[in-house]
Amino acid sequence: MKTTLSNHEIEKITKMVAEIIAKNEAHANVPANAPANALANAPAAGFPVAAASGPLIPVGVSARHAHLTQEHIEILFGEGYQLTKKNALMGGQFATNEMVTIVGLKLRAIENVRILGPARSASQVEISATDAVKLGIHAPVRESGNIKGSEALSIVGPKGAVYLKEGCIIAKIHIHMPPKDAMALGVSDGDLVAVKKHSGDNERALIFNDVQIRVAESFTLELHLDTDEANAAQIFTGDKVKLVGKKEVRC
Ligand SMILES: [Zn+2]
Repeated sequence: MKTTLSNHEIEKITKMVAEIIAKNEAHANVPANAPANALANAPAAGFPVAAASGPLIPVGVSARHAHLTQEHIEILFGEGYQLTKKNALMGGQFATNEMVTIVGLKLRAIENVRILGPARSASQVEISATDAVKLGIHAPVRESGNIKGSEALSIVGPKGAVYLKEGCIIAKIHIHMPPKDAMALGVSDGDLVAVKKHSGDNERALIFNDVQIRVAESFTLELHLDTDEANAAQIFTGDKVKLVGKKEVRC
């Protein structure tokens, strides 16, 4: 899935990227975190508002980031390179100290995109809808790991660059939880639920529908949404949301 570039090409891309970044900074007219999606103010049809039970759900806002294969890590950072841990995340994942620049097909770039470890079996870049506008690409909204036919992108590191034919997505809003919380909330893996901000001010009173439940022993209870969604609802990391509905599935 990758194309290794020659040193000359890498130099050319890096130079173009540097120029593009300088140009973008000069204009800087695309708000970095502008709300993107029109969001309903009530649970959508099929989301009966349930009597609230079960725990409140802590929020983790996901900034744009990249998951990389070891092969790509070594192309970007040098042979034998190992990612270094900045802080631990759930399920054995961690934020690293390493960052890359991502470049869309129109050669518009975003720099300082953090890598999450450990290395994966396929490289994947998760961006917001606003980032997609900035890059001039059409990334689909997908579950993490479901990258087939997703958007193409180049990744530039200090020692090289890789071109992904597919792998750039906008992550679908989801809630991680261990089985005991799933039981307390009355949901199962793959269910779609509606949630609403509970803690602090709820000035925008947005309800997120179609929030996907992901259950695994290694997970801790946490809602993951991107910066566009968080800004639209004025939700911050550490806030809590409440489950307000569950989609009925008719077979
Ligand atoms: Zn997540």
